[in-house]
Amino acid sequence: MTKGEEIKLLKEEIEKLKSLAYKDELTRLYNRHGFKEESEKFLDEVEGYKKNPERRSSVLIKDFSLIIFDIDNFKKINDVYGHPAGDEALKMVSKIILDRVRDIDIVARWGGEEILVGLIGASEKDAFQIADDVREKVEKASLAWKGRKIKFTLSGGIASFDEKNNTFDEIFKKADSRLYKAKESGKNVIVKE
Ligand code: GH3
Ligand code: MG
Ligand code: MG
Repeated sequence: MTKGEEIKLLKEEIEKLKSLAYKDELTRLYNRHGFKEESEKFLDEVEGYKKNPERRSSVLIKDFSLIIFDIDNFKKINDVYGHPAGDEALKMVSKIILDRVRDIDIVARWGGEEILVGLIGASEKDAFQIADDVREKVEKASLAWKGRKIKFTLSGGIASFDEKNNTFDEIFKKADSRLYKAKESGKNVIVKE
């Protein structure tokens, strides 16, 4: 093996290991580690900008929004059609989200059936539009399962960086409490305040 071939193999090996460490096996979305790794540099930039807009006026990325999606009554899909059907529903939702966001955005499986989306450069208005488009697509779609069609919905909470709330933890907390509101208010809805 030449040195070049050896380096190529090592690079492939590194990519494989990174994928194992940073991606979720079922959906191929990022996992929590992956989200943190991928979002760090954007979060630092936006945080710096929001704290000091005059001094950082030249930065390219001035906004960052989060959406937390959670499938409604997911337990019921598992109970009625079985766990493998639930898995397919998760894959379907992942694909709908990936099709709607840009390549630069970061989509991660945050927990069981909870998906976190980091929208780079997106205002709260942009984030709401994207989240609501996803919600509508899921509502209209159906999952083909053993000759039947499974219908389901999802809910979401969104939050964005601003001058006051400018750390990941703060906007995550906001988005999460808005997701809770969405569930309380009857599900199949995106809450932005
Ligand atoms: P809500 O509308 O309030 O969100 O209700 P829910 O039923 O969706 O929420 P709950 O948290 O009660 O249920 C989540 C379920 O997700 C429970 C768990 O068994 C299931 N789950 C978690 N991970 C997976 C997975 O990888 N595959 C499948 N099929 N189910 C999963
Ligand atoms: Mg749920
Ligand atoms: Mg949940």
